[in-house]
Amino acid sequence: MMRLPKFRYFAPTSVKEALRIRAGEGEDASFVAGGTDLYPNMKRRQQTPKVVIGLARIAALRKLRAGADGLAIGAAVPLSDIEHHRRVRREYPGLAHAIAEISTPPLRNMGTLGGNVLLDTRCNYYDQNYEWRQAIDFCMKKDGAICWVAPGSPKCLAIQSADSVPVLIALRARVTLASGDGVREVALEDLYRNDGIHYLTKRPDELLTEIRVPSADGWTASYRKLRRRGAFDFPVLSVGAAVRTEGAVVAEARIVLGAVSSSPVRADRAERILVGRALDLAAITEASEAAAGPSRPMDNADFSFLWRKEMTKKWVAAALSELAPGGRRGRP
Ligand SMILES: Cc1cc2nc3c(=O)[nH]c(=O)nc-3n(C[C@H](O)[C@H](O)[C@H](O)COP(=O)(O)OP(=O)(O)OC[C@H]3O[C@@H](n4cnc5c(N)ncnc54)[C@H](O)[C@@H]3O)c2cc1C
Repeated sequence: MMRLPKFRYFAPTSVKEALRIRAGEGEDASFVAGGTDLYPNMKRRQQTPKVVIGLARIAALRKLRAGADGLAIGAAVPLSDIEHHRRVRREYPGLAHAIAEISTPPLRNMGTLGGNVLLDTRCNYYDQNYEWRQAIDFCMKKDGAICWVAPGSPKCLAIQSADSVPVLIALRARVTLASGDGVREVALEDLYRNDGIHYLTKRPDELLTEIRVPSADGWTASYRKLRRRGAFDFPVLSVGAAVRTEGAVVAEARIVLGAVSSSPVRADRAERILVGRALDLAAITEASEAAAGPSRPMDNADFSFLWRKEMTKKWVAAALSELAPGGRRGRP
């Protein structure tokens, strides 16, 4: 049985108090929201904070507002609240669907959107218990020196595997970060870095407070996830797609691939192919072929990486078909 290491726990009731505790405890402290990623990682000694700052009692982080200007989702809002929110389901069915694809109902009652957006990167050589990792002399991501996926690689190749992220980026989401230095807002797309260890541009002392999704305003989005088990499994390839149409043609398109790199990947050539055209079979086929170009999965997740690359075409085509006239929105 894996046990949690000893740590001190704080339960602040305001953002200000949480930031004050973080400033006092420094690098030894981690924030925790639902704990469905952090605590298993602590049991496996992948993350070893001496101090944990719980966010569950901060009411300001648990508010979800849906207005004319879009969604403002507090970082500690449970995933199940978003999944079942009437306006989210009606106006952002692709987002509701992506969130419903995360883990299992009990874990979605605990897990939060902020925790999902900041989910640790994953790899077959890293997501193992301490003894397993010790037996291979660890890996670059934690306690070791080598990347076992590609021993010549100068950087860790663990992959970004959060289900909400591709569709949130496709929907042009922005996030708010607070620290002792003040508050800043960045496009969610800019929160990620293509490095399995330093996968965020967020500083460790910054608290994610809110995720904002602009008004749907003609945009519709869809999500497709490739995994072995239908019941629950992390994605080994995922696609978030969104289009805005004017009359019969696509005016703007955004296609985001997940689980094929340490950061989400925009398929920008595929996006350009769609603009100015009807979302018909010819356009979808051409765009999905182009989307496979920047999809470069590595051999560090379930299934053959060559097959995951090949499946990119099919999954992008499926995500776009759902957005085409007559496509079934929200659920495939
Ligand atoms: C069995 C199992 C299956 C799973 N399947 C999936 C899956 O299919 N898809 C998927 O995407 N995820 C999956 N997960 C992972 C996890 O449940 C979700 O990603 C969940 O959304 C994480 O949210 P959390 O609030 O529990 O995060 P936490 O564990 O609380 O935090 C995750 C990370 O974010 C940091 N953090 C959290 N909130 C903040 C904040 N506001 N500001 C700054 N830092 C913060 C923490 O320090 C930690 O590093 C699974 C987990 C388990 C155990």
